[in-house]
Amino acid sequence: MYRISLITGDGIGPDLSESAISVLDAIHDNLGLQLKIEKLMAGDLALKKFGQALPDDTLQSIKKSDACMKAPVGESAADVIVVLRRMLDLYANIRPAKSYPGMNALKDNIDLVIVRENTEDLYTGKEFEIANAAVAFRIISESASRKIAKYAFDTARQRNDKKRVTCIHKSNVMRKTDGLFSRVCADVAKQYSDIEFEQMYVDACAMNLIRRPDSFDVMVTTNLFGDILSDEAAEVVGGLGMAPAANIGDSFALFEPVHGAAFDIAGKGIANPSSFILSAKMMFEWLGAKHNDKKCIEAAGKLESAVYGVVKKGIKTRDIGGTKTTKEFTNEIISLL
Ligand code: ATP
Repeated sequence: MYRISLITGDGIGPDLSESAISVLDAIHDNLGLQLKIEKLMAGDLALKKFGQALPDDTLQSIKKSDACMKAPVGESAADVIVVLRRMLDLYANIRPAKSYPGMNALKDNIDLVIVRENTEDLYTGKEFEIANAAVAFRIISESASRKIAKYAFDTARQRNDKKRVTCIHKSNVMRKTDGLFSRVCADVAKQYSDIEFEQMYVDACAMNLIRRPDSFDVMVTTNLFGDILSDEAAEVVGGLGMAPAANIGDSFALFEPVHGAAFDIAGKGIANPSSFILSAKMMFEWLGAKHNDKKCIEAAGKLESAVYGVVKKGIKTRDIGGTKTTKEFTNEIISLL
């Protein structure tokens, strides 16, 4: 049995959580995969209720679970997810973007994955004010850069036949920090002679993601650039509502949508739950690999086929051009499962 901790989140988080839980229940019923889901609070509501965005009880429950699913949280996101990433050393943020039939991607054959460094850069929150200026520390270490570069090359080795790693940075301006990141990636590349290696400035990359998104395979970058490029990549293949992410460490992992709490559509019952359901798909892939469990791998495949099977039939939520509510869309997925 797998214990799954699930943070229900803010904004559209509760809608997405309800949808994901009913899909996980269907996986449990259909595949006999034993799952124990524990709903937890963190984020704006938790801050209001307990005075802490990440209550101690929530943290302890996450640590006891086999994996965590986290719906988006609101204004207190940095006090929840950024803290969890650092506390649990979830150093790799994996954000895939792929074209699927019926999704109106910019090209038909996009299949890329962004490997984003998840523990440092401007996200360490080391900011202060002096006189009339505000200053932020951008910390890029050799050890974290090496770890994420290796992760990217190992990912490329396990994937399709493109086998290319693109290292994205802005070392012509940030000569020290991105200079280090670029150098370390190039150094790691020497150990992977079977994989093509290229470097690209982040602004050129933002353009190429629109111009020739099908040319990318694995993209490795620092924390902030990875955040921005992954929103762009999600739109390139059809929308944020379909975009999942995994935060992976050596012994634990947390799965969440790429997008935030989307307060503009909160409580309306129209959010696209695919981002969270596909996050569960990534969770099953990770659990399957970790525990050598074929049932988890099967569950991952079934979730992906069901989500995109529904979309292929033209059944869609509003963000991707349809009319279905979160509940109706979820029920369609469950009926395909
Ligand atoms: P953050 O900075 O917190 O990650 P963001 O900048 O990614 O947030 P979001 O609120 O996540 O912004 O998303 C931007 C817009 O995309 C939302 O306002 C919403 O309209 C749309 N959107 C995001 N996720 C979904 C979803 N699951 N279903 C439908 N629409 C969505």
